[in-house]
Amino acid sequence: MTKILSGSEVAEALKQKIISEVKNLKQQGFKPVLCIVMVGKQPDSVAYVKSASKKCETMGIGCRIKTLPEDIREEELIKTIQELNEDKTINGIMIMLPLPTHISQKAVKYVISPEKDVDCLNPVNVSKVMSGEKCTFTPCTPSAVMEILKHYGIDIQGKKAVIIGRSMVVGRPLAMMLLKENATVTICHTKTVNLKEETRRADILVAAAGKPKMVKKDMVDDGAIVIDVGINFDEDGKMCGDVDFDGVRQVTSMITPVPKGVGSVTSTVLMKHVIEACKQQNNLA
Ligand code: NAD
Repeated sequence: MTKILSGSEVAEALKQKIISEVKNLKQQGFKPVLCIVMVGKQPDSVAYVKSASKKCETMGIGCRIKTLPEDIREEELIKTIQELNEDKTINGIMIMLPLPTHISQKAVKYVISPEKDVDCLNPVNVSKVMSGEKCTFTPCTPSAVMEILKHYGIDIQGKKAVIIGRSMVVGRPLAMMLLKENATVTICHTKTVNLKEETRRADILVAAAGKPKMVKKDMVDDGAIVIDVGINFDEDGKMCGDVDFDGVRQVTSMITPVPKGVGSVTSTVLMKHVIEACKQQNNLA
């Protein structure tokens, strides 16, 4: 029978560690603070910010939200980020993406201080992840996948890991993080010629394509571990992953559900990064 890898369980365990770290920091006179920068009011971003600020509150982390007008000029946004970089009362900065089209994301990501870059946007941090260097602020979603594997004691070394998806948010950094743990990694994408042949080779299969239920039972080898990063909605408006959970679970040894899988861990990883930022900035790490 397949084991369900519960993201909620992993998130709860992480949360308890964070709460205890926050308590320690407060005893030493420090309060970790996250600042979320939101340009415009896209419904997805507003919902994320609301949930993140609630999460901060439950963990004792301060949360400031900087809402900027949709038509803000690029120079003004850059100036705001520079001010936040200098602000000693803020430990972590997260910029909600995507930015409006008149603003260059490329220009903005260089401005955020690598020491406060809790969502791993700055190329300094990205290059550390890509080169396998130690990096405090790894991207939150791939880190959530790694936290799940770690929590359930899943051995990565020597395993064949296959990832569907090559985005900078999930697929590519995750490939490097699994490689760092000595997996043999294959990245699949829309131009992969025989996807099923690749995915069937996986000991650990990660789906991050953004295609509802695209991974079917016949694409997965018996006993494989399947991690579903996808967040989609089916024709009935019900949340689902990239994996056809009911079919695929029949052949896997372990599988993450959607919801209550990877997504539950992602924002908790962000909070963990805010704590790390606070410790590093106060020479406590
Ligand atoms: P993206 O659209 O930027 O990238 C998708 C990738 O999948 C691309 O590299 C593409 O080549 C590949 N792909 C798409 N269709 C494919 C197919 N049929 N065969 C093979 N490869 C295919 O998406 P993203 O931002 O990387 O997000 C991927 C999924 O993960 C989405 O469902 C997104 O909602 C979800 N997501 C979840 C979290 C979380 O916290 N759980 C965070 C970020 C993204």
